[in-house]
Amino acid sequence: MTIPALILTVAVVALIAVAVYASAAIGSGVYVKAACRAATDEKVIALTFDDAPDPIQTPRVLEVLRQHHVQAVFFCIGNRAEAHPDIVRQIVAEGHLIGNHSYSHSNRFPLFSRHKMQLDMERCNDALAQCAPAGNAMKLFRPPFGVTNPTVASAVKSLGYTVIGWNVRSFDTVRNPDAAFKRVCNRISPGSIVLLHDRLPDSHTLLGRLLEYLHDNGYRVERADRMLKLTTNPQTDKRQ
Ligand SMILES: [Zn+2]
Repeated sequence: MTIPALILTVAVVALIAVAVYASAAIGSGVYVKAACRAATDEKVIALTFDDAPDPIQTPRVLEVLRQHHVQAVFFCIGNRAEAHPDIVRQIVAEGHLIGNHSYSHSNRFPLFSRHKMQLDMERCNDALAQCAPAGNAMKLFRPPFGVTNPTVASAVKSLGYTVIGWNVRSFDTVRNPDAAFKRVCNRISPGSIVLLHDRLPDSHTLLGRLLEYLHDNGYRVERADRMLKLTTNPQTDKRQ
């Protein structure tokens, strides 16, 4: 290979790597500005749960949160919210926020056309607004799988959503609860936003262990919108 060809190959590989990273990592901020942590020195963190609601596990998670007087954000899948509206109402009644995690949570969501993506997000918004409008007022969005790209950026902007990411991923869906627990404990720092799921058989026991660890180590837990000092913006809130 000649030197110019080598340089070109390296440049192309580097560009592809950047594009893949930007699409895969919600914290990259390349396409979508996502709030992934709060700028603070205080020992405060926020907990977020993806893929809510689950008819068995979400009530167990809610009970643990209640026992510890902690409030969180639940990113709901629209079709699950439609199937279990009582649980969504319970989430909101207990002081938690709900956010949009798409209607379909399709593997192909990141590849949807802008129109199809926007319809999917609006359908989730409608489902949540139907269940519990008060809990949905902040218009928070978390893209399925945390994947962002220019289409997601455009849909989020036109619908007036604030994107909430994370800087501590528990990997609770792929690791055993002990490994997920250790991973979170090792990675949290002031202002962290932690990604958990409320649909796993061990979600509530992992949460209980984490809350005890946080308490024992001087951390308090705030709802993400409060930790980030977000306010509702009626200008962008087109659907409420
Ligand atoms: Zn998800």
